[in-house]
Amino acid sequence: MSNRVLGCTGNMMTRAENLKGHAIRNETGEAMGPRIIILLGAPGSGKGTQGALLSARYGVPTVSTGALLREESKKNTPSGFRLRQTLAAGALVDDQVVFEAVAARIRTSSEARDGGLILDGFPRTVAQARMLDRLLASMGMAAPLVLHLDVPREVLRTRLAGRRQCATCGAVYNLRSGRSGRGSRCEIDGGALVERDDDSEGVVERRLAAYEAETLPVLEYYRWPERGGCYRRLDGNRGPAEVTKELCGIVGFLGATGDDSVGDTAVAA
Ligand code: ADP
Repeated sequence: MSNRVLGCTGNMMTRAENLKGHAIRNETGEAMGPRIIILLGAPGSGKGTQGALLSARYGVPTVSTGALLREESKKNTPSGFRLRQTLAAGALVDDQVVFEAVAARIRTSSEARDGGLILDGFPRTVAQARMLDRLLASMGMAAPLVLHLDVPREVLRTRLAGRRQCATCGAVYNLRSGRSGRGSRCEIDGGALVERDDDSEGVVERRLAAYEAETLPVLEYYRWPERGGCYRRLDGNRGPAEVTKELCGIVGFLGATGDDSVGDTAVAA
């Protein structure tokens, strides 16, 4: 197993002997080294669903900036209030605010330092990508592996219009893809299935516009040949199980082994 498989630069194998905990492991059970996996894609492209599955399969945590920010926005503080307004408008949160939240997770979590982390929803601007590069370099961590879930805009609109979430446990359902819970209740805990505030029609359009203006340039940033080919595009307009299979193929190509039973019942979000 080598980090040259994807042509990425970095030092992940040189640190391998020192690694422990939640590391992604190669075929002989040896930890591969700290690795940040970035799931990039538009709202509704399936990042959340696939992130959860990859986490379960490879034992590395996922940090979802959307979930972190939604949690923060519930606080009865001035910053909580500002966040609520930004999220409700479908706009992006300030780069520095999001970066600090993610950086705190990367700096303090032993999993991130020892084994890696999956980022869902970060970076979303080129400024954030640069901040992340500087942080990883300062920590001596390898360049991130960027997995782009590409889905046409019309499909995203349809998916987001049908997305429902359990108010209790956060499980995601889709009214149009067949997995719609028990009537209007969650299959896991019976919680009510609700639409996320920012999935309403007008807000979805603004989120898609923000993606095109701010995040498409991030794809270009990671595609620069100088970055050594750490970018992979996947066709996200397929059944979730097919997407999971290809994602696991790429991560497994890096030498990771995981629990094969995870991912059989994946759903698109
Ligand atoms: P989606 O990807 O479906 O838009 P998320 O749950 O990832 O949903 O994000 C919800 C909202 O949180 C975004 O619309 C944005 O306001 C905010 N957000 C999440 N991640 C970032 C980020 N990296 N930078 C700025 N804002 C963010």
